[in-house]
Amino acid sequence: MPRESNAAKRERAIEVCERLNRRYGPVECFLDHENPFRLVISVLLSAQTTDAQVNKVTPELFRRWPTPEAMASATPAEVGEVIHSLGFYKSKAKHAVECAQMIVADYGGEVPATMSELVKLPGVGRKTANIVLNVGFGIVEGIAVDTHVNRIAHRLRLSPKTHEKEPLKTEQDLLKILPRAYWNDVNHQWIMLGREICDARKPRCGECPLADICPSARMA
Ligand code: SF4
Repeated sequence: MPRESNAAKRERAIEVCERLNRRYGPVECFLDHENPFRLVISVLLSAQTTDAQVNKVTPELFRRWPTPEAMASATPAEVGEVIHSLGFYKSKAKHAVECAQMIVADYGGEVPATMSELVKLPGVGRKTANIVLNVGFGIVEGIAVDTHVNRIAHRLRLSPKTHEKEPLKTEQDLLKILPRAYWNDVNHQWIMLGREICDARKPRCGECPLADICPSARMA
């Protein structure tokens, strides 16, 4: 493929978002997001795990510890028992309790609504903070780049190959190329595409609405 100008790449990236917007429209968060506290804990638990698995354990988790104050007084072992079906459950349980403790001690029991404060919470990185800001508070500061978004960004060559294993750099590439108005829907709509069509192992390019503008498209 000949080298693409930044202007052409930007135009293509916008077209990707427009097409996925037409296909999926606004997509609801897949995790329990009844309030920002439940959301931050659910997203924290979702690392390296499917949302469906997280949604199986959160009803019991939030029945036993519905508020930051309640979870702050739990032990990681108690929380671990409830979430033991999830990968890395021991460290996730520890982070969930410590996160609740910090929300109580430093933020008066309310999940903070800024990127700089959210990323200080144990177990919360920029990806989680982006989701909490976006879904919990309606604030768009970036794009949550999870495994689907990262894979699709690279298959579409909207981020250089050297950033393939660095989602935070991939996010910065997407933020540079996409106008801010598009940031809000990228995470959920690209996850939908990843689950439905742009599978990690077997992308179904023949059914993909982006096939004619995707440099990685493989047609049968
Ligand atoms: S054309 Fe294929 S590789 Fe490209 S986004 Fe669609 S499914 Fe993924």
